[in-house]
Amino acid sequence: MKIIMLGAPGAGKGTQAKRIAEKYGIPHISTGDIFRANIKEGTELGQKAKTYMDQGLLVPDDLVVDLVVDRLGQDDCTRGYVLDGFPRTIPQAESLDAALAKLGEKMEYAIDVDVPDENIVNRMGGRRACVGCGATYHVVFNPTKVEGICDACGEKLILRDDDKPETVQKRLTVYHQQTQPLIDYYNNAGILKSVDGTMEMDDVFDAIVKILGE
Ligand code: ADP
Ligand code: ADP
Ligand code: ZN
Repeated sequence: MKIIMLGAPGAGKGTQAKRIAEKYGIPHISTGDIFRANIKEGTELGQKAKTYMDQGLLVPDDLVVDLVVDRLGQDDCTRGYVLDGFPRTIPQAESLDAALAKLGEKMEYAIDVDVPDENIVNRMGGRRACVGCGATYHVVFNPTKVEGICDACGEKLILRDDDKPETVQKRLTVYHQQTQPLIDYYNNAGILKSVDGTMEMDDVFDAIVKILGE
């Protein structure tokens, strides 16, 4: 099962991708998580990526594509995967299609988690990320048991630098310019499915399971 999650920053792609990965037993591959892990480890890739991420801009395609194509070649991907945050531009989608075509494979589902801009700002302002394991919460919609402490690993939670309101606006603009065209791209490919991302998390997940099958 090969799945792409589409949607604005903060639409709930990561939240749903984790649940999909768990239910269907496939890896969750988040390019944002990969970049943040590289930043934490202080790698060269991390240092390069950070300058773009902090400004709310996309990391250049050539820094992303090889990384993802390599990751998809690993053993745990033979039964499929759920891609979260990639592709984000038409050239990335074309490179992905080309890499899959070489293997005689095809993307199967592009799931667009549809949330209007008005809702996004609230979602991002309340998002909290764990510094230890990267788990994501929301102060109102998905709070931890103890305020500020990760349920999964006990480390502390932070507001991501790029989730501050000024940067969120920039990321939304970038989304509309560079990523939204992928909706047409995958619609033309005949694999686009849309879900209403303004519903509660469980209802969004139910809608996705209806698409993917039990
Ligand atoms: P969100 O889940 O809020 O949409 P991500 O964690 O997916 O955010 O991404 C955070 C940042 O990492 C993006 O704003 C961008 O700078 C960078 N990034 C992640 N994935 C990609 C990608 N496929 N192409 C370019 N930049 C990316
Ligand atoms: P993305 O990966 O698309 O950037 P996330 O999955 O990180 O989005 O979700 C963004 C924020 O919104 C998080 O704080 C998350 O807990 C919260 N969230 C996700 N889905 C919903 C939902 N259906 N209703 C309310 N809040 C949500
Ligand atoms: Zn944690």
